[in-house]
Amino acid sequence: MIRDFGFYMPTEVVFGKGVVDRIGEIAVRYGKRALVVTGRRSARASGALARVEASLSEAGVTCILFDRVTPNPSIELVAEGAGVARDAEADLIVAIGGGSPMDAGKAMAIFATNEGSARDYFGVKTYARPPLPILAIPTTAGTGSEVTEYAILTDLQSKDKKSLASPAIFPKVALADPELTCSMSPEITVDTGIDALTHAVESYLANRATALSDALALESMRIIRRSLKRAWEDGGDVDARGELLYGSMLAGMAIAQTGTTMLHAMGYPLTVFHGIAHGRANGILLPYVLAFDRVSAPEKVGRIAEIFGGTLEDVRDFEEEMGLSTDLSEALPEPDALDEMTDHVMRTKNLANNPRPVVRADVEAIWQRALCRSLG
Ligand code: NAP
Ligand code: FE
Repeated sequence: MIRDFGFYMPTEVVFGKGVVDRIGEIAVRYGKRALVVTGRRSARASGALARVEASLSEAGVTCILFDRVTPNPSIELVAEGAGVARDAEADLIVAIGGGSPMDAGKAMAIFATNEGSARDYFGVKTYARPPLPILAIPTTAGTGSEVTEYAILTDLQSKDKKSLASPAIFPKVALADPELTCSMSPEITVDTGIDALTHAVESYLANRATALSDALALESMRIIRRSLKRAWEDGGDVDARGELLYGSMLAGMAIAQTGTTMLHAMGYPLTVFHGIAHGRANGILLPYVLAFDRVSAPEKVGRIAEIFGGTLEDVRDFEEEMGLSTDLSEALPEPDALDEMTDHVMRTKNLANNPRPVVRADVEAIWQRALCRSLG
């Protein structure tokens, strides 16, 4: 039986090799002055920025560059970028990069036109004025941020990762060009690819899952299963890069409907407290959270395991064969702050979306399982 559901994904998708060169003709629909938001290095090093600038300039769109987004962007950084957008009277935002520049660009779009700090907007879905239009160009195959309504920011004061979430910040257009992802190192390829896999897994297991989000999530898992290792082995394999980018986008469309679960809630403090990359943090915890959720969702966890060979050990092997150790004690030789990290996890609203109810002792047990690499 199909349970009642809604589906809203207003982003126009333009997918294919070389589509980045069409940014100019697309941007002119939204204005004449674009704030181009990137990270510090990769957009320039990979040539993506030069191609965007050339295309915008050819279309008569003026570029104002903000190239200082760091991974896991902070509330303060976003405020700074929004100020630049306001001062430059930008009409639109073009965000190029991984999830960090795309999320920062989405948040800048809100605060270019609205008063206040992101701190006042977590949990707020509507804004006094519409954000600037956002055009998103992913250069990692991971977050799916090009098709989600989320901008994840780090609150350096409270040491939390928090989401701005609103239909108003779905990008107007996602330009997904596999060629731009070829410059990722093997390690970044795996970290970000596993982030996409966890999006698919969490969406599939989420209490808010629907028939349609399940279809997207399952297809995403199958695609990531068959393409991630190829892209990790040979970064220049554009076909594998294309599959992976498509798989991560499907996972993004799925979480845009369902949100994530306790896995992302536990991954965030590993990043904020210990500097572990976002996707890697989720990847370390994935097998242990699946073992925990299996009690409440045996059929769905079974189907996930099947995609990887049949068992949760197969899921773990899939990650470890690409150098992502699921032994938390390797990433965290001194596992301090676990109590404080657990406090943060227990405060997230993600827990309400987890198929198995979560109490504090469960989170503590999962840290311990991960520290001794035990699937129980
Ligand atoms: P990222 O933080 O955007 O980038 C990680 C690293 O990869 C950076 O050093 C970046 O360099 C580099 N990089 C990016 N593209 C590259 C390329 N093509 N070639 C070589 N290096 C490249 O990583 P991410 O995993 O994509 O994004 C993580 C952020 O997204 C987190 O804040 C996470 O919470 C958030 N997130 C958002 C959503 C959502 O729906 N909005 C979903 C999941 C996660 P530069 O800094 O020099 O560019
Ligand atoms: Fe993620």
